Amino acid sequence: MSEDDATARVAAGLAEVRKAIAAAATAAGRDPDSVTLVAVSKLQPAERVEAALAAGQRVFGENRVQEAQARWAGLRSRYPDLELHLIGALQTNKARDAVKLFDVIETIDRPRLAEAVARAAAAAGRCPDCLVQVNTGEEPQKAGVAPRELADLLALCGRLGLPVRGLMCIPPIDDNPALHFALLDELAGRHGLAWRSMGMSGDFEPAIRHGGTHVRIGTAIFGERPTR
Ligand SMILES: *Cc1c(COP(=O)(O)O)cnc(C)c1O
Repeated sequence: MSEDDATARVAAGLAEVRKAIAAAATAAGRDPDSVTLVAVSKLQPAERVEAALAAGQRVFGENRVQEAQARWAGLRSRYPDLELHLIGALQTNKARDAVKLFDVIETIDRPRLAEAVARAAAAAGRCPDCLVQVNTGEEPQKAGVAPRELADLLALCGRLGLPVRGLMCIPPIDDNPALHFALLDELAGRHGLAWRSMGMSGDFEPAIRHGGTHVRIGTAIFGERPTR
């Protein structure tokens, strides 16, 4: 597919995804407006992102701080209603840049990072909404707090004054994702948290069935990502 074709397809991809989200929410007896579409723009060519903006999309997810800065610092002034989510691992030494750029940090997953974000937010006079990433599959190579350590991390976030709105997870690739979505929903409910960020291009429908409030979708909107 040429880049022109890919760009032209973005509006259609976005419309299809929005329709599928609304259908899944309605089928689950939920208000379609209770699900926020986070369009994952990481690595996508600028033209495709512009096409999504032109089609009215305002909530975007990026997984690297520097890449996101390069892309969005300029677009911010043109789109003041933009909402940027950090959905990738955050190093403590990038916390300052992250709190300045992002509206939501979805990947708080360890005490040191919670402390670094709280410090950076105090210095910047601005604190993004936060989600705690849970490693629901307890995969050794994956980011996220283990479910049994979640209560302690949430308590620490509370003491630090971080505005934790909910939880986020990425299920193991070869497991039934619904089990992980159900677990995340249960954990969020137990801790009185409203947001559940779960579901990607391949599994956002079960995520919505299990209470997902934020679905993070890249490929189904923008097409395949060029490799890094
Ligand atoms: C890349 C990414 C997504 C989007 O994946 P798609 O399969 O392209 O929809 C969602 N969540 C996270 C954390 C990601 O890194």
